[in-house]
Amino acid sequence: MEKYDALVVGAGTAGCLAAKTMAESGLKVCIVEKKPREQVGEKICGDALGEHHLKFLGLEKPTGGELEAKIDGIKIYSPDENTVFTIADKDFVGYLLNRRLFGQWVLKKATDKGALLEDNMNFRSPIIEKGSVVGLTAKNMKTGKTLELRSKVVVDATGYFGMVRKQLPAEMGIDREIANEDVEACYREIRQLKQETANTTFCEIYLNQKASPGGYIWIFPKGGARVNVGIGTCMRANYPNPKQQLYETAFKKPMFEGSLILTGGSWFDPVRRPWDNMVSNGVVLTGDAASLVNPIHGGGIGPSMLSGYLAGKQIVEALSKGEPTKEALWGYNKKYIDTYGKKQGTLDIFKMFLLSCSDEDLNYGMNEKLMTEDDVLKAGMGDDFHLNITETAKRVFRGIRRVGFLNKLRLTVAMMRGLSAHYNSYPETPQNFELWRMQTVKLIGEAKQKLVN
Ligand SMILES: Cc1cc2nc3c(=O)[nH]c(=O)nc-3n(C[C@H](O)[C@H](O)[C@H](O)COP(=O)(O)OP(=O)(O)OC[C@H]3O[C@@H](n4cnc5c(N)ncnc54)[C@H](O)[C@@H]3O)c2cc1C
Repeated sequence: MEKYDALVVGAGTAGCLAAKTMAESGLKVCIVEKKPREQVGEKICGDALGEHHLKFLGLEKPTGGELEAKIDGIKIYSPDENTVFTIADKDFVGYLLNRRLFGQWVLKKATDKGALLEDNMNFRSPIIEKGSVVGLTAKNMKTGKTLELRSKVVVDATGYFGMVRKQLPAEMGIDREIANEDVEACYREIRQLKQETANTTFCEIYLNQKASPGGYIWIFPKGGARVNVGIGTCMRANYPNPKQQLYETAFKKPMFEGSLILTGGSWFDPVRRPWDNMVSNGVVLTGDAASLVNPIHGGGIGPSMLSGYLAGKQIVEALSKGEPTKEALWGYNKKYIDTYGKKQGTLDIFKMFLLSCSDEDLNYGMNEKLMTEDDVLKAGMGDDFHLNITETAKRVFRGIRRVGFLNKLRLTVAMMRGLSAHYNSYPETPQNFELWRMQTVKLIGEAKQKLVN
């Protein structure tokens, strides 16, 4: 039987970057994907990607069919739409993608480097021997046959459902389930408008806690009078039906009169801190399978590619030195935390702050500049944005009618700084992980209790 160095389950952006990275270092890599090859990349998504993610990974700018529009930044609307924050910083410059063609573009990068693609192949279960993952079983959707494939490492890149992750035994030390409250239920349509709107270069985000608690409604221009319009809603308690909410809010806007639905559908976005540990013996989690999505704006294409790249590098290093044990793969956890995970973790707390605000809080807070564009920009970039004394005094004066909001914002900032410092001490090896994890759970629990409950 053929044995691979690595089997990558899922040909999404995480899986393809992992496969590309390993194949270009000479490893024998096979991607197992349940879709047919030509459907790889198709996904219910906002289709927006920040340019900085590609730059960081050394990937060129998309120029072919995968690029639908260039974006100069984002506009965030208060719930009453009276205040608009315009953020046109270089870190918010990016692209609206043709998602299928972008997926094909990334897949080609992996196969050009020598990775094999086994499409129409539905992963069924990991093969675990002596405490290590050593392969998988998968059903060929065309022949109906179940096959066994062997490898030194298996990469879970199956997206939100984390199909490999869910079947790992508890002793492997990887969490298996994600809490509903850490997930956004999304509904999205691509619409053809009767005519192009005035805005063709900014992604628009509408805060609306009644329609989309803890999430937002988006309208992203795709060029040629087409827009990607959708909604994400935190799945807490009796959350409202996202599709119904989108129809009762965004689609009431005059711009949608007479528009055509080109495509529509629902999917899930895991919006929380990164998985505390993403490796064990012979197995690595990447992308949505490890909840590597920005908790505020729900963007996960960039972090998924980053995680695929970092995981690939770590596997290459581990195999060059010996066995792919948990210890040998651990560096991937640390590298992801240092590059993106720390920011992602602290934004989990900012998300809780937003979740705790009413529409009235947000209208007032944005209008009176108790929360500013600069705060959002800094939070979005993972920068420290503590308020100095003068700034605090000014905001107290402006916010005298909503001191509670301001206090909550200050508390949020303090807790974000505490969590950020904690992430700086992410353990270098698995040995001290349990202590670190207990402290993480404590800090996140405190934030939830103070802000959300
Ligand atoms: C509505 C919505 C809007 C979003 N908007 C944006 C946005 O504008 N910008 C952004 O950056 N991010 C956005 N995201 C998040 C982004 O789509 C994901 O974070 C990103 O695609 C994750 O990539 P991935 O490779 O980890 O997973 P996926 O893209 O989900 O890929 C997983 C792959 O695994 C395959 N697979 C699954 N199960 C099996 C199996 N059993 N056997 C074999 N193969 C399997 C799937 O077919 C798929 O090809 C959005 C998400 C949602 C839900």
